[in-house]
Amino acid sequence: MISQRMLSIGKSPSKIREIFEYSRKRKAQIGEDKVFDFSLGNPNIPAPKKVNEVITDLIKTTDSTALHGYTSAVGDMDTRKTIADNIKKRFCFECSADNIYMTCGAAASLEITLKAICNRGDEVIALAPYFPEYKVFIENAEATTVEVLCREGDMGLDIEAIKGALNGKTKAIIVNSPNNPSGAVFAEKDIKKLAEILNEHNKKTGETVYIICDEPYREIVYGDIVVPYIPSIYDHTIVCYSYSKSLSLPGERIGYIMVSPKARDSEDIYFAVCGAGRVSGYVCAPSLMQYVVNKCDGLLPDIEKYAKNRDLIYNSLKEIGFEAVRPDGAFYLFVKALESDAVKFCETAKKYELLLVPSDSFGIKGYVRIAYCVSYEQIKNSIPQFKKLFEDYKNR
Ligand code: PLP
Repeated sequence: MISQRMLSIGKSPSKIREIFEYSRKRKAQIGEDKVFDFSLGNPNIPAPKKVNEVITDLIKTTDSTALHGYTSAVGDMDTRKTIADNIKKRFCFECSADNIYMTCGAAASLEITLKAICNRGDEVIALAPYFPEYKVFIENAEATTVEVLCREGDMGLDIEAIKGALNGKTKAIIVNSPNNPSGAVFAEKDIKKLAEILNEHNKKTGETVYIICDEPYREIVYGDIVVPYIPSIYDHTIVCYSYSKSLSLPGERIGYIMVSPKARDSEDIYFAVCGAGRVSGYVCAPSLMQYVVNKCDGLLPDIEKYAKNRDLIYNSLKEIGFEAVRPDGAFYLFVKALESDAVKFCETAKKYELLLVPSDSFGIKGYVRIAYCVSYEQIKNSIPQFKKLFEDYKNR
């Protein structure tokens, strides 16, 4: 018999994939521009020009066997050094190439990190709303997901609720800021409070709770919002970074893990990361992309388009009467559904050709996620449909 656990994970449909399939069929029936698909977090801003220039240059100037050959399992030394140097420059945080492990994006970073630090029966706190794959990765590490809700209203950290969830089994807490799906950026004062309660807890229990920073949206923030660098605030931190969104390279599968040198058992964690990477087959992240990020790490995306989209969708929906969290980062708007059952609400939205993701799989009920990494036109043309949807509920 094959693995029933894997069979069931593979068969359980992802809500977003289901919507994607529906969208494809519906567009074929009524036309591309008549369907307003807000389901996918696929960046619609092209990668910075420099990325393609670097790729072209590497192809022209580097020996092909070297360019496409294996790097060391943990990643190219020079690339890891560049990343560590940039972390120092950008965040005034001291680390070295020996703290960096190159991965196939944030998903692999998270999977490896959780496997590296968790033992069977450990608990990992996921702050709802959260990226649905956390549950799969946590369970694969034989740990248990403990959901803690963020504050209603602004979706910030609920420190008292987190404190209440800590116990002797807590191994880690995943902090994703800017957040998918809420767009919230957790305030520095709240991160400091979080560090305080974790330090107190560690002292009391003699255990260590690690913060896992899931950071694919670090650079996608609006106005003068600053995303605190958590390793500078809390020692026991592991960063799971990805270039999928910051450089618009989601299909290239490239990112890294940074194990803070200040974390308790840092060296051992790094070795465990190597072990977890090895058992998962996540060794030697794509070589060409490693060389590309060596030259492009720290490059900021042109987020002007996302900012304009954010303003249009947020302001328009608020004007219609929807309740939404104003996103400070990422490219998602989290909107209160007009009935308690968000799945039913999304079904009604479909009548108006609006494809939204219900919040249930993000660990919270009663909201929908709108991914606004789409064309400005799509958002503009969808506004009358949102009005009709609102009227539909008003007239019930
Ligand atoms: N974490 C969050 C919060 C995400 O939104 C995503 C992707 O959308 C990932 C992790 C996975 O990112 P990657 O494509 O780099 O694996």
